[in-house]
Amino acid sequence: MKIKMTTPLVEMDGDEMTRIIWKDIKEQLILPFVDLKTEYYDLGLVERDRTDDKVTMDAAEATKRLGVAVKCATITPNKQRVSEYNLKQMWKSPNGTIRSVLDGTVFRAPILIDSIKPAVRSWKKPITIARHAYGDVYKSVDMKTEEPGVAELVFTGESGKVSKITVQEMNGPGVLQAAHNLDKSITSFAHACFKFALDSKQDLWFSTKDTIAKVYDGDFKQIFQDVFDKYYKDEFEKNGLEYFYTLIDDAVARVIRSEGGYIWACKNYDGDVMSDMVSTAFGSLAMMTSVLVSPDGKYEYEAAHGTVTKHYYRWRKGEKTSTNPMATIFAWSGALKKRGELDNLPGLVAFGDALEKASLMTLNDGVMTKDLVALAEGETTAVNTEEFIAEIRKRLEKLIG
Ligand code: NAP
Ligand code: MG
Repeated sequence: MKIKMTTPLVEMDGDEMTRIIWKDIKEQLILPFVDLKTEYYDLGLVERDRTDDKVTMDAAEATKRLGVAVKCATITPNKQRVSEYNLKQMWKSPNGTIRSVLDGTVFRAPILIDSIKPAVRSWKKPITIARHAYGDVYKSVDMKTEEPGVAELVFTGESGKVSKITVQEMNGPGVLQAAHNLDKSITSFAHACFKFALDSKQDLWFSTKDTIAKVYDGDFKQIFQDVFDKYYKDEFEKNGLEYFYTLIDDAVARVIRSEGGYIWACKNYDGDVMSDMVSTAFGSLAMMTSVLVSPDGKYEYEAAHGTVTKHYYRWRKGEKTSTNPMATIFAWSGALKKRGELDNLPGLVAFGDALEKASLMTLNDGVMTKDLVALAEGETTAVNTEEFIAEIRKRLEKLIG
C-alpha cells in the first residue's frame, strides 16, 4: 500500500545534472512508496525557451494556488547559454521570477552529519540564514565624478513636495551611490521570518547597522519590531521562542560563539556574504537546502546549489558521476512533509522523515559521494550517484518495513 496524497505538489523540473538526479530520486526513492500527486512544470531551459518563459510564470502561479512546490536547479541563461541552447532571448532567472511572484524570502540551512565537523568548533546545530531579496545595493545607482562639486539627494513626492539633503560637498573627483528599499518589502520579509521561526520552532535573530544608518537601517529595525509586537509576540512566548535584534557586528561575534540552532535574518548584502561564509564553514554547498517562503505561507523547496554543469558534461560522455543528491532529496522530503502537515496526512510526514533518516544513515555509515569523502573524518566509501541513491533506498525499505 502506497502512501496517499490529497493535494498535488507543484513539481518544477530543471536542467543538466540535477535534472538527471531528479528523475533518479523520483523513481528510486519516492514513486515506489508514495502515490505521488504532482502538477508538473518543465522549467528546463528548452521548455522555457519554447514557451517564451510562460511555463515559469505558470509554475509560480500554481505555487500560489496549491501552496507547496519542489524545484530542481535550473540554468540562469548568460551569453554563453544563449548560443549553447540557441535561445530566443536571455531569459531571466527562474528563481528571480518565482521569488517576485511569491514576494518571498529565501531560507538556507545546512544538512549536518557526525563525520563532517564544521570549521567553527562550537557549532552543533544548523544556522539558517534568511536573506532579504529586494533592494539596497542590488537595486542602487552609482556615479563617478571627475571634478569638485556638491552631491545632493532629491526626492519628489507624488504630491509635489520636494525633499532635498546634501550628501557631500566634494572637493575632488569621487564616487556616489544611492540605494533604496520599500516598507512593503521589508514588512513581507519580517512576516516570512517570524512565520518560518514559528514553523521550524527556532529563535529569530535580526541584525542591521542602525547605529550608523540611523534612518535607513532604523526603518528595518522598527518594522521588524512593529510586526513582531502586533502579530507574533504571543505565539513566540507560547512556543518558548525569542526574537532578538542586535547590530550586525555583534551578531557576527555571537554567531561564531554560538551552538547554532536559530534563524539569522540579514539584509540583502549581509545575507549574500554571510550565507556563503556560513555554508562554507558548515562543509559543502551540496549539503545546503533552500526554501522560499511567502509572507502568506506558501513554500517552495530546492537545493541551494546549481545544475552542476561540469558533472553533466562528463555524464554526457558516458562517465559515471559522483554528484551529491542530498540537497535535492531534502527538497523533496521537505515539500512532502509540508504537504502532509497542511493536508493532515501523518503518513506522508512520516515518509518524509524516513527519507531524511535513511539518507543520513547512509552518510553516517560512511557511504558518500566524492565531494564529501574529502571532508569527512573516519572510514568512508566513495560511490557514484546511482549507487548512493540505491544505498539510501535499501535503508529506506528497512525503515518503512
Ligand atoms: P553549481 O552547479 O552549484 O556547481 C559549482 C561546483 O560546485 C560544481 O562544479 C561542483 O564542484 C560543486 N557542486 C555543486 N553542487 C554539487 C553537488 N550536488 N554534488 C557535488 N558537487 C557539487 O554552480 P555553477 O557551476 O556556478 O552553476 C551551474 C549552473 O547552475 C548555472 O547555469 C547557473 O545559472 C545555475 N544555478 C542555478 C541555481 C538554482 O537553480 N537555484 C543556483 C545556482 C546556479 P566540482 O566541479 O569541483 O566537483
Ligand atoms: Mg553570493
